[in-house]
Amino acid sequence: MNPSIDISYSLDRLNINTVNRTNQVTKTAGGKGLNVARVIHDLQGDVLATGMLGGIHGAFITSELEKAEIKHDFVTIKEETRNSIAVLHEGNQTEILESGPIVSEDEQAKFSDKFRELLDLAEIITISGSLPKGLPHDFYQQLVQAAQAHGVKVLLDTSGVSLEKVLSSQNKPYMIKPNLEELENLLEKTFSLEHLEDIQLALVEPLFKGIEWIIVSLGKEGAIAKHRDMFYRVTIPEINVLNPVGSGDATIAGFAYAMTKKLNPYEILRMCMATGMANVRERITGHVDLANVKNYFSKVEVKKS
Ligand code: ADP
Repeated sequence: MNPSIDISYSLDRLNINTVNRTNQVTKTAGGKGLNVARVIHDLQGDVLATGMLGGIHGAFITSELEKAEIKHDFVTIKEETRNSIAVLHEGNQTEILESGPIVSEDEQAKFSDKFRELLDLAEIITISGSLPKGLPHDFYQQLVQAAQAHGVKVLLDTSGVSLEKVLSSQNKPYMIKPNLEELENLLEKTFSLEHLEDIQLALVEPLFKGIEWIIVSLGKEGAIAKHRDMFYRVTIPEINVLNPVGSGDATIAGFAYAMTKKLNPYEILRMCMATGMANVRERITGHVDLANVKNYFSKVEVKKS
C-alpha cells in the first residue's frame, strides 16, 4: 500500500554541511510488496501488483513495472508516492525515509473496490509492508476479511499495529512470516537462538490460533515453521552475502509460488528458503536468479521438530 522509489547513493565519504557528489546512483521501484511481485516474476510465476501510486514518482514506478513486464493495476492518488533514500558510505548505510502520501477516504474506497474486483482473478494474495497515512490501522484486516469471503488465501507480512489488528480479529491470514525481531515485538518477549524450543512454544499462543502457516525466519540460521500442528526446523548452508535486504520479501514470494505449484510442506519450506537465499546473492533488492534458487532448493534441510 505504500510503495517507494528506492534511491541509493554510494559515496566514499559522507561530508556533513557541504556538498557530496556521486555518479553511483540506483533508482528502483521499491517497497516490500513490489519486491515480492518482482521475485515471483523472476520465478516465472503469474503475478499482478496493486496498491496506490501518485504523481511523477508513481509514474516512474509504473514505467519500471512495464519495463520489467510485470502486470500491474494501481489506484491513482493525488499525493506524491514517496522516495526512500539510502546513502552508502564508509561501510555504513544512512537512510532518509519520507513518510509518504496521505490517502483520502475517497481513494481508500476506490482501492477497496479494486481489491474486490481483483479477488476474482487471484488464487493467492500477498500483503506486505506498512500502511500510508490516512488508512485505518485495521485496513489489512478488512482486506483479509474480503479475501477470505472470496476463498482466496492471504500471506501477510506486516508488523506493529496493522499485524496486531489482523491477529486479534476473527479472519486470520493463511500465512505470516515474522522475523525474530518482529516476533519479539509482537509478543513483548525476547528469544535466543540457543533455545529455539521457546519460539516453538510461543507459536501455540492463542494469538496465532487459526493461522495455517507461521514461518519465523532467522536470517542465515534459516527458519522455524509451524504448519497446522506440526513444527519444522529449517537449516540452510552458509553462503556469501552480497545484499540481504529484501530476503524476507523473497521468502514470501517463494512461498506463494510454491503454493500455486501445490508442493508439499517440505518442498514449500525448501522453496521459500532457497528464494530468500538467492536474494542475498544479488545486488538488486528483491531479485533472484532462478539457477541459484534451483541450486539452493536441494541444499535446504527440513526436519520435523
Ligand atoms: P527479513 O528480511 O524479513 O528480516 P530474514 O533476514 O530472516 O528475513 O531472511 C529471510 C530468509 O532469507 C532466511 O530465512 C534465509 O532463507 C534467507 N537469508 C537471509 N539472510 C541470509 C544470509 N545471510 N545467508 C543465507 N540466507 C539468508
